[in-house]
Amino acid sequence: MNTVKLSDGTKIGRNTFDARVFRAKKVMKENFIHNHGYLYCIECGKNQNGCERIAASHLISVDECVKSGQSEIAYDLKNMLPMGQKCHREFENLSKIQRYARYLAEKEK
Ligand SMILES: [Zn+2]
Repeated sequence: MNTVKLSDGTKIGRNTFDARVFRAKKVMKENFIHNHGYLYCIECGKNQNGCERIAASHLISVDECVKSGQSEIAYDLKNMLPMGQKCHREFENLSKIQRYARYLAEKEK
């Protein structure tokens, strides 16, 4: 599959999509550092030393965004938060609905 579908029905190339996701992750981390001074895990509040390898984690997974035909959510800055690997693994155990609810809560902020 070389294209992904957006909510409005239009399709974009997988390469364009991947580039947008990559860029959004970078912007999210830059914004977070700008606002908070440094990068830390939003779940446990620890920095790199406390919660290993902090990265931009998707609330609704990229896979789910693509599968549901709402691919643009994968590069929505409100759909990503910094999490260390430890907390990210726990987050992945949440149900699809719980993850969706978390995204909607972040959008309200
Ligand atoms: Zn953590």
